[in-house]
Amino acid sequence: MTNSIRPNFAELAKSQKFQTKAFIDGKFVDSISGKTFTTVNPANGRVITSIAECDKQDVEVAVAAAKAAFEDRRWAGLAPKERKRALLRLADLVEKHSQELALIESLDNGKPVDDALAADLPDAVETIRWHAEAIDKLYDQSSPTPGDLVSLVVREPIGVVGAVIPWNFPLAILAMKTAPALAGGNSIIVKPAEQTTLSALRFAELVAEAGIPDGVFNIVTGFGETVGQALGRHPDVECLTFTGSTEVGRYFLKYSAESNLKKVILELGGKSPAIVMDDVDDLQPIVEQLAIGILFSQGENCSAGSRLLVHEKIKGRLIEAVIEHFKSWTVGDPLVEGTRIGALIDDKHMNNILGYIKSGVEEGGRLILGGNQVRQETGGYYIEPTIFDDVSNKMTIAQEEIFGPVLSVITFKTVEEAIEIANDSPYGLAASLYTNNLHTAHKVSRAIRAGTVSVNCFSEGDQSVPFGGFKQSGFGGREKSFMAHDQYSEVKTIWIQLK
Ligand code: NAP
Ligand code: MG
Repeated sequence: MTNSIRPNFAELAKSQKFQTKAFIDGKFVDSISGKTFTTVNPANGRVITSIAECDKQDVEVAVAAAKAAFEDRRWAGLAPKERKRALLRLADLVEKHSQELALIESLDNGKPVDDALAADLPDAVETIRWHAEAIDKLYDQSSPTPGDLVSLVVREPIGVVGAVIPWNFPLAILAMKTAPALAGGNSIIVKPAEQTTLSALRFAELVAEAGIPDGVFNIVTGFGETVGQALGRHPDVECLTFTGSTEVGRYFLKYSAESNLKKVILELGGKSPAIVMDDVDDLQPIVEQLAIGILFSQGENCSAGSRLLVHEKIKGRLIEAVIEHFKSWTVGDPLVEGTRIGALIDDKHMNNILGYIKSGVEEGGRLILGGNQVRQETGGYYIEPTIFDDVSNKMTIAQEEIFGPVLSVITFKTVEEAIEIANDSPYGLAASLYTNNLHTAHKVSRAIRAGTVSVNCFSEGDQSVPFGGFKQSGFGGREKSFMAHDQYSEVKTIWIQLK
C-alpha cells in the first residue's frame, strides 16, 4: 500500500472509470460479435457498466496471439532475470494502484473495500513478487551418470496456458495463476468470472505499462459455457488452470479428454472443519480465528472453516463466546469503514444460501444466530452471520459447500471421533485445529485428509507453501510455492553420449 490515509471510497466511486474491453495481443478490443454483458454492484443491485461479451471466435484470436508470442520466444526467450524485472515492475504498479484496484474489486464483488485493500491487493503483489524473484533461482538437474554420459533434466515452459477464474478473490487468484505461468516463460489467456471482470481489465492495463510483450498476457471476457469451454477444448492450449466449483471443474477434465489431453489443474470447493479440543485455555483468540474462518469475505472462501467441531466439555463456553463475537462483525456498505461483512456476489447465490439455511432448520439443526437476509432496502444481497447448533455431519449443511456466512456446530467426545467427522466429507481442502497439546497437534494434523492444516490459527500460509486440495477439492497440482512452477512446466530429459 502506498497511501496510509484512508480515502473517501464512496466519493471516489462516483468518478471511477472502468476498462470494459477484452485484452488480446496487447490491445483492448470489442468482442467480434459486438455483444456486451452487464456487471452489477452486489452492494445495491445496480448495473456498473457493460463489458465485451466474447465467445469462441475471440478465443481463437487470443490463442493464436498467445501461441505466436510463445513460438517467437519474445517472452520465453528472455533471460529469467529479464522476466523477473518485468514482473517486478508489474508488482510495483499493482501496489501503486492498490486503492483503485481495491475499490474496483469491492464495487464488482461486494466485499468490504478495506478487506480488498488489506488482504486481496497485498496478496496479489506478494504473489507476483515471489514468483518473479524465484524464477532466476530455480536450478535444473543433472542425474548421476557414468563419465561418458551427461544427463540434463530441464524444465521448459509448457506453452499457452488458459486460466479460468472465480469471483471470490478475482485479482488474488488471477495473480496466483498468472505470476508463476509468466515467470516460467509461458503465454496466458485469462477468463475472469463474468461477475468480476473489471479488476482483471485494469490489471491488463498495468501489464502493458510494465512492458510485458503483446500476446503474452490476454484477457477474454465473457461466460463460462462459451469462453471457458472454448479455452478448455482448444487444441493449442497446453494447460488449463481452473479455480471454482467442483461441478464445473469436472467439465475441464472432459474438455481435455475430448480435445488434446491438455494438462488440467483444478482448485475446487471445500467443507473445512475447525476442530477445538478441550485442552485449550484462552478462548478469545480462538473465537476470533473461527470468525475469520467463516465470516471473512462473507464466507465466500473455498477454505472457509464452515464446520465447527467442538469437544463437548468446552462447547457451552465456546459457543457463548462465538455468538457474542460474531455479533461484532457488522454487515454493511462495503465502502464504509468498519464494515466487516459486505454483499454476497449476486441474488442467485444469496438465495442458494437462504435455501441451505432453510434446509438446516428442516433437517433438525438449531438456529442459534442470524439466518436472515438483511439490508433489503439497499437493493443489495446481504446475509447476517448465521450459526446452527446440534448439527449432525450427515445433514446437507454439513456436507455441501454453502459459500456464505453460515457455521455448523458439531459436538465430539474423543480425538478419534473428531478425526472421523473431519474426514467424513467429499472435500479435503483445508482444516484448522486448536489445541495446547503438541501430541494432539501432530497426530490430528497428520490424520486429516486435507491439503492445508493450520494449527492454532486459520490460515492458508504464505507464498512459500503449496496450496491445493485432497479428494474432490482439487486435481493435478498445487498452487503457490515452487510447486506452482511445476504446473506450468514440462520436464525434459536430455541424454548425451560423449564421444
Ligand atoms: P464456478 O461457477 O465454478 O465458476 C468458476 C469459473 O468457471 C467462472 O469463470 C465461470 O464462468 C466458469 N465456468 C462456468 N461454467 C463453465 C463451463 N461450463 N465451462 C467452462 N467454464 C465454466 O465457481 P464460482 O461460483 O465462480 O466460485 C465459487 C466456487 O469456487 C466455490 O465452489 C469455491 O469453493 C471455489 N473456489 C475454490 C478455490 C480453491 O482454490 N480451491 C478458490 C476459490 C473458489 P462464468 O463467468 O460464466 O461464471
Ligand atoms: Mg459485479
